Amino acid sequence: MNSTTITPTVTVPDAAAPALGDKDFAAPTGRASGVGTGGLEVSALDRGSRLEQMRAGTLGSIHSWELVTAVDGPGTRMTVFFAGCPLRCLYCHNPDTLKMKNGESVTSEELLHRIKRYKAVFNATGGGLTISGGEVLMQPAFAATILAGAKELGIHTTIDTSGFLGSACTDAMLENIDLVLLDVKSGNPETYKKVTGRELQPTLDFGRRLADKDVEIWIRFVLVPGLTDDPANIETIADYAASLSSVTRVEVLAFHQMGRDKWASLGMKYELEDTLPPTAEEVERVRDQFRARGLTVY
Ligand code: SF4
Repeated sequence: MNSTTITPTVTVPDAAAPALGDKDFAAPTGRASGVGTGGLEVSALDRGSRLEQMRAGTLGSIHSWELVTAVDGPGTRMTVFFAGCPLRCLYCHNPDTLKMKNGESVTSEELLHRIKRYKAVFNATGGGLTISGGEVLMQPAFAATILAGAKELGIHTTIDTSGFLGSACTDAMLENIDLVLLDVKSGNPETYKKVTGRELQPTLDFGRRLADKDVEIWIRFVLVPGLTDDPANIETIADYAASLSSVTRVEVLAFHQMGRDKWASLGMKYELEDTLPPTAEEVERVRDQFRARGLTVY
């Protein structure tokens, strides 16, 4: 996942939905994750059965879910945060989503049942389902089942992904995805490695494939002073974004420190302790770099 500086409107439609607390803020790692799996029945299975069902795509590991407006895609969305991520972004605001084993086991039937309940809300607002994380493509079989199920229900679908595991996204899955929020964390491979611990190329390849298949893309970029803000780095991302014919929006997301405490509570070393958020002028400078390519920028 990545982040947004747009403050979401959170809608809690019934008593079974999770109450939102400190995660109800715009975070540089994407929407900060929801507060839990409230309202979803959790499956208790032995390890063997769990793995078998996960491979079959009928069981997933879910960190949380929530209903939001103005983030994670158009309209009001049910955003489901899958557990597990292969990246280790220095600015991750959801380090509690990084391990798949820390999620709750939820069946595809249960999750789709919950998604279906909000169809009228989605229809009224032009919204839909967004699968985020963690990393949605850590659980490709489950993601495929949920996306196909949502499309069968006539619901708009979005995934929020770093693209690092893009090769796990089959062409059949792509047919069930209306929009990809592609988190491009750097245009410079060395900086990408420093930020995420991984290689940049799979993300670039995935974006190219999406454009070739004409799947709509919103590029998301987190501006972190002293880490990702080199103008040459931004130029590279802007050139890349402009080269993808299906990019309809770029979101420049300002780093902030609201996720810092999670790192400490998980006993993880947080390396951006002293990093300040970018100024409004810095954010505008970066947005202008994208606008200079004729891109629509938020
Ligand atoms: S580590 Fe994973 S969940 Fe955290 S910001 Fe990076 S891609 Fe997103």
